[in-house]
Amino acid sequence: KESLDKGLEKTKESFFSKLGRTVVGKSEVDEDVLDELEEILISSDLGVNTTVKIIDRIEERVARDKYLGTSELDKILREEIASLLSENNTEDLKDFSLPANVKKPYVLLVVGVNGVGKTTTIGKLAAQYKKQGKKVILGAADTFRAAAVDQLKMWGDRIGVPVVSHGMNTDPASVAYDAVKQGVADEADIVIIDTAGRLHTKVNLMNELSKIKRVIQKFVAEAPHEVLLVLDGSTGQNAMIQAREFTKATEVTSLAITKLDGTAKGGVVIGISEEFKIPVKYIGVGEKVEDLQVFNKMEFVDSFFK
Ligand code: GDP
Repeated sequence: KESLDKGLEKTKESFFSKLGRTVVGKSEVDEDVLDELEEILISSDLGVNTTVKIIDRIEERVARDKYLGTSELDKILREEIASLLSENNTEDLKDFSLPANVKKPYVLLVVGVNGVGKTTTIGKLAAQYKKQGKKVILGAADTFRAAAVDQLKMWGDRIGVPVVSHGMNTDPASVAYDAVKQGVADEADIVIIDTAGRLHTKVNLMNELSKIKRVIQKFVAEAPHEVLLVLDGSTGQNAMIQAREFTKATEVTSLAITKLDGTAKGGVVIGISEEFKIPVKYIGVGEKVEDLQVFNKMEFVDSFFK
């Protein structure tokens, strides 16, 4: 919780100072205040759709109650954001445990463009599972970038988890195939597969991912159990655009939003969670293993409005 609070510091600071400037000298929430609030929410990376929904709800309240004091704006915003997020009924994870009742190995495919923190997120997740005594295997199927393979191996060495790799420029599907094969043979609990994220060639990306899915299903019919899209929260609206593109290219079942520390764009978590109705499972608020946290909507709102 502390690191969540710390991770959200910049976002909060920026948001509340803008909000403070807007209401200074004004006691009532009127059209002007609402217009400015709309701009603040958009500039805080909540996205246009989510912002419009929030503003509409506050307008309804103003119309119904005839009067809304600016001193109550914090409280109202908190309520509306909380109710918006709770309505999207995606379930929050409670901890890092694997879903129950899944035949081993659980196969997790991780997607996302380069630089968003994909490899780091995989390393942090692997460390969490390893800590629980789970048997983890990593597949270095991001074969497009030499550094990605090396980096995954570094994580593997560091936390004592085997990494299946064929080196650079090899066929990602063949790496994925071998990783899942080994996962089955070794009775691993989880196989995590790193994939290359070349979004600029969407057709390639789609083909590559569907080929990976096809080959790993030879070993585990339900695989992948999860397709986790990693997004860099500090890129704000770019993260939103990537989410849109990836969800068009493949079925994304969960999200991780990284680098919320050191950015004022943390509002993007609210926007993405609301817009895509795909569970945000993890947020990254720093470089250490513990800085990858399980995301909880209400904890996030609480921390934001604390
Ligand atoms: P990839 O290209 O998507 O695999 O990205 P990497 O995993 O190599 O991460 C890129 C950089 O972002 C690395 O320097 C990571 O340490 C850093 N990084 C990843 N997640 C976080 C985070 O939550 N907070 C911060 N501050 N840095 C992060």
